[in-house]
Amino acid sequence: MALTIIGSVAYDNVETKFGKKKDLLGGSATFASVAASFFTKVNLISVVGTDFSKKHIDLFHKHKINTDGLEVKDGKTFRWDGKYHDDLCHRDTLDVQLNVFNDFKPAIPTVVKKQDDLFLANIDPDLQSHIFKSVKPEGLVSCDTMDLWINIKKKPLLALMKKLDILFLNDEEARMLSGEFNLLDAAKYIQSKGVKIVVIKKGEHGALMFHEGLEFIVPPFLVSDVKDPTGAGDTFAGGTLGYLASKKKITNSVLREALVYGSILASFTVEKFSIDGLLGASKKTVGDRVKVVCGQVEF
Ligand code: AMP
Repeated sequence: MALTIIGSVAYDNVETKFGKKKDLLGGSATFASVAASFFTKVNLISVVGTDFSKKHIDLFHKHKINTDGLEVKDGKTFRWDGKYHDDLCHRDTLDVQLNVFNDFKPAIPTVVKKQDDLFLANIDPDLQSHIFKSVKPEGLVSCDTMDLWINIKKKPLLALMKKLDILFLNDEEARMLSGEFNLLDAAKYIQSKGVKIVVIKKGEHGALMFHEGLEFIVPPFLVSDVKDPTGAGDTFAGGTLGYLASKKKITNSVLREALVYGSILASFTVEKFSIDGLLGASKKTVGDRVKVVCGQVEF
């Protein structure tokens, strides 16, 4: 089964205590697509400007990511500027420029089949809904979001939640969306809005997966050398969903495995700026880290 991913493809300016880098390849759909491509065929739906480098399109192709749905529009690529605090957990968004994402209404390429899984990676919930309605998906439907959209687009986000199999969001976002401080209560609220499975990301501490109640605590692979956490959440979701799309049947244990693979892939992303850490990962090094984590949680 293929996985269709809609989200941002961006150029980021990122500052951490390890340096200040400009024009890095980023965006929610970029991290998610590259991570998912470890396990399955990916169809990318997004938009970039004429400033987008051909070498980055080639990079998608190298990972067998289909770009029929990656529109190149007159104008500039989406831009995000962020600066991390010294704890490398918290960050400030310094600037967001939607650029070609303003009034982007993508056409769905013929390569996208409604039987495929669909991942609505972090982007405006109105755009996520537009894609949902156009694709009419019959596979697994997942979504990621962020504080900005919870603040300014809560209504369309709540409407979309009725249709979701899986929602990914971090602990602060879960509290913001639900108005509940306790994460068990927050997950319950989110499920009451129609989401079947809620995955609450807890940064370097892993994640929690709620099906009915709390069903799985996703272990993190702890990295000592974190350089840039940008895209960790997108990588986690993309890796998880790529793994699920590669399986014929989703059982509870497949779901758990998928979340562990997503978590391991994210540990590669944070070791370098942009997608460089992820590009350096291989089936072997990913497998080695999975074994380490299994040993760490066994008792
Ligand atoms: P993460 O660190 O997983 O939250 O992902 C950060 C990535 O999301 C960066 O590469 C940004 O380009 C992208 N991003 C930041 N803000 C937004 C937004 N409002 N909508 C979509 N993508 C965004």
